[in-house]
Amino acid sequence: MENIRTPIVCMLGHVDHGKTTTLDKIRGSTVAERESGAITQHIGATEIPIDIIDNLCGPLLNKEDFKVPGLLFIDTPGHHAFTSLRSRGGSLADIAVLVVDATDGFQPQTEEALDILKRYKTPFVVALNKIDKIPGWQTTQNSPFQKSITKQKNKTQTKLEEKIYEIVGNLHEAGFQSERFDRVKDYSNTVGIIPISAKTGEGIPDLLMVLVGVAQQYFQQNLIVETQKPGKGTVLEVKEEKGLGKTIDVILYDGVINVGDQILIGSHQNPIKTKIRSLLKPKPTQEIRETGQKFQKAQKVDAASGIKIVAPNLDNVFAGYPFQVINNQNEQKIKQEMQSQVNEILIETETSGVIVKADTIGSLEAIVKDLKESNINIRKATIGDVSKRDVVEAETIEEKLDRVILAFDVNTIPEAKKHAKNKDVEIFTSKVIYRLIEKYEEWVQEIKQKRE
Ligand code: GDP
Repeated sequence: MENIRTPIVCMLGHVDHGKTTTLDKIRGSTVAERESGAITQHIGATEIPIDIIDNLCGPLLNKEDFKVPGLLFIDTPGHHAFTSLRSRGGSLADIAVLVVDATDGFQPQTEEALDILKRYKTPFVVALNKIDKIPGWQTTQNSPFQKSITKQKNKTQTKLEEKIYEIVGNLHEAGFQSERFDRVKDYSNTVGIIPISAKTGEGIPDLLMVLVGVAQQYFQQNLIVETQKPGKGTVLEVKEEKGLGKTIDVILYDGVINVGDQILIGSHQNPIKTKIRSLLKPKPTQEIRETGQKFQKAQKVDAASGIKIVAPNLDNVFAGYPFQVINNQNEQKIKQEMQSQVNEILIETETSGVIVKADTIGSLEAIVKDLKESNINIRKATIGDVSKRDVVEAETIEEKLDRVILAFDVNTIPEAKKHAKNKDVEIFTSKVIYRLIEKYEEWVQEIKQKRE
């Protein structure tokens, strides 16, 4: 038996451009559409069924034409979520929404997001947000944006058009062809720009409609999953739950998982084998309020879903690790595949260059690529906190400019920090890739100037 799974959508964009507010508005406006059914809250994700999108969009969307059952939005926005959530061969997200503040335009993290999208070959749309802040802009309640935009034959529209074409220019420089969404004929070669206001809700239905259209156009083939196929997914988060011990929140992107299934979780050491003890999904908000219980049990889950897995042996599992259901016949083969997938990214050269540490395979991959582009040599790149061993390795390097550890979103254990100080090893840390590289480059300039 075959069916088409829900496409997975992730929000990207510069800080404060409105990723979180847009997600909230999507959930908010769809919650308001009660009569057509409810949104489904997953663990770490929210599913908007096609019926709701259809109702919101009214005549704009001919539901019969669409085979995609809805959209699954990852609740955590940002590049970090996007890059650390990997499926085999790319990002877990099938489609991305690049949120750009219309009053602020392209910013460093917008460029960074575009680089990431290019590398992962992920189709995306641009949500040109905060249009309510464009002077003179008037919102038209409950009206699909496409209609209102053509009605506004005044200065405001011109101003908005100007903004749109500024973005078209920016995207062109980045190597993408784009156009205002209602003029796009083929989303497989043109990026659609959808003006929205996450504050007023203007344009949100259009955004959803375009996402469904893009999903339809791109993924009709890939989205077909056999429901009997063994499940594949990615770890979103590892969490301690009262009474349950360590649990993992996962996104299942392919196949099916059942209670009792054996799974293999690929790690940067040896793959971890465990057995699903229970599958938990969130209880409806009302019930949580009444009973105080957060979760309800499921016996079986189909892709795409966000679900909590309760299982033994989860101590060495980290966010971003891939997992797959196994049986006795394919265990060895899957183990090897997983290991080569994880190893691909860990680099080790013998001689010179900086040491890079990151929290997930995805972010490590992103940093390594950016460092290479900036012509910064890398001696070693691995996952995990900065340890004393890393510092010991760095201190053997003669060249001061390479006696460096670049740490992305990981901690430095106190002993390592102390040792680094004594041995003149520099540790740079940041939660933003470009900042990390910037910090290092600034420092390099300073040292070079001193030397002159
Ligand atoms: P994020 O960092 O990209 O997740 O950005 P947030 O969603 O946290 O938004 C940053 C700020 O912009 C918040 O104060 C929001 O209230 C505000 N904001 C977001 N979207 C809009 C919008 O469409 N219009 C206006 N006026 N403000 C917005």
